[in-house]
Amino acid sequence: MKLDSSVSAVITGGASGLGEATARRLASHGVKVALFDLDAERGEALAKELGGVFCPVDVSSDDQVTAGFAKARAEIGQERILVNCAGIGGPVKTVSRDRETGAIVEFPMDKFERTVGVNLFGTFRCIKKSAAGMLTLDPMDDGERGAIVNTASVAAEDGQIGQAAYAASKAGIVGLTLTVARDLSAEAIRVNTILPGIFDTPLLGRASESVRASLAAQVPFPKRLGKADEFAQVVELLVSCGYFNGEDVRLDGAIRMAPR
Ligand code: NAD
Repeated sequence: MKLDSSVSAVITGGASGLGEATARRLASHGVKVALFDLDAERGEALAKELGGVFCPVDVSSDDQVTAGFAKARAEIGQERILVNCAGIGGPVKTVSRDRETGAIVEFPMDKFERTVGVNLFGTFRCIKKSAAGMLTLDPMDDGERGAIVNTASVAAEDGQIGQAAYAASKAGIVGLTLTVARDLSAEAIRVNTILPGIFDTPLLGRASESVRASLAAQVPFPKRLGKADEFAQVVELLVSCGYFNGEDVRLDGAIRMAPR
């Protein structure tokens, strides 16, 4: 797919981190961007800067996602690109002992369901609604109708202690990539997924300097955290290279996560 102003894109989680970098990179080619996010303040400001549109969307809500696509399409046209970046984490062990009382504590199911609801169900919800819209368009000159990129995590393959819900949600995204690519192949829509390692985003900015340094030291090469624009570069490749389809790509400086 050629990236220019004839193309529109929806980026979920587009107000921050990897989604923001993706929006910036796509917009630098003239692509019209719509940002779906919970964070209206950052989202509005970035959309204004990029000449795009902000849509207040919780990807776990069917109604909000439907309204988001309606708003985006009314303002910048039917998207040919969807990049799913919205995601949440937060470590909780399957069972643990309360430090003070010694009481046995189970992983709260509502937290497990929320994590899977945002990361996995939210991703699939946006894929199917976006693909349904893409089907209303004619294919472009290269025969392609659209391209979708999802964000999993290396935790899908080497989840750490406390990541049961997060790893399961991200493994689910890896699990659906090939089958959805096959589902959409007759309609000329490609689907790929990126598994980021450790990236320097506001998500990680909450960690202390020593934690960040220790994480960077674990990366074989380069010995640093990933830059958000390096993620965006791979999104650009996956969208623009027409032979990439049904693939899960680790982007991690060769790190394999230790148990903790
Ligand atoms: P981030 O916190 O900087 O950005 C995430 C954005 O998603 C935020 O703007 C947030 O408001 C939005 N969001 C959260 N829940 C949402 C919801 N229900 N609906 C709509 N928007 C929602 O984080 P990031 O590091 O840019 O993470 C982006 C994605 O990359 C996530 O899916 C995350 O799991 C994944 N990831 C990040 C890393 C990393 O090291 N940063 C590593 C592996 C995977």
